[in-house]
Amino acid sequence: MSASECIFCRIASGEIPADVVYRDDDVVAFRDTNPQAPTHVLVIPRRHVPSAHELDDAALTAALFAAMQRIADDQGLGDGYRVVTNVGPAAGQSVPHLHFHLLGGRTLGWPPG
Ligand code: AMP
Repeated sequence: MSASECIFCRIASGEIPADVVYRDDDVVAFRDTNPQAPTHVLVIPRRHVPSAHELDDAALTAALFAAMQRIADDQGLGDGYRVVTNVGPAAGQSVPHLHFHLLGGRTLGWPPG
C-alpha cells in the first residue's frame, strides 16, 4: 500500500486533519473518531508499518511506548489505562497501518471481546 492510499499515513503527514494530541519525529497520536472510552487515542508510527507483526525496529518500538507513557500522563490516566493493537482481520484490524489504541477514563472490563 502506498502512502497516498493509507489513511493513517495521510493523517501522519497532515494531509488529512485529525485531533492530534502528540507528535514527534517518529510518532503521531490522535483521537479516535469512534471512541470506546472517554480517552481513546490512536498512536501510530509516521512511517508505514502494516501491523505489530511487522514491527522490527527497536528504536521505533521504544519511541511508540515512550509516546504512550507521555500521553497517558498528559491525559491524566494515572488510575490505569489499556494499550491494544489489533493484528489482522480476525482480530478486527480495519486500518492496515500499525496503531496502538490507548484507552482510559473508565473502568475497563476483561476479557476483551
Ligand atoms: P482497528 O479496527 O483496530 O484497525 O482500529 C482502527 C480505528 O481507527 C477505529 O477505532 C476507527 O474508529 C479509527 N479511525 C478510522 N479512521 C479514523 C480517522 N480518520 N481518524 C481517527 N480515527 C479513525
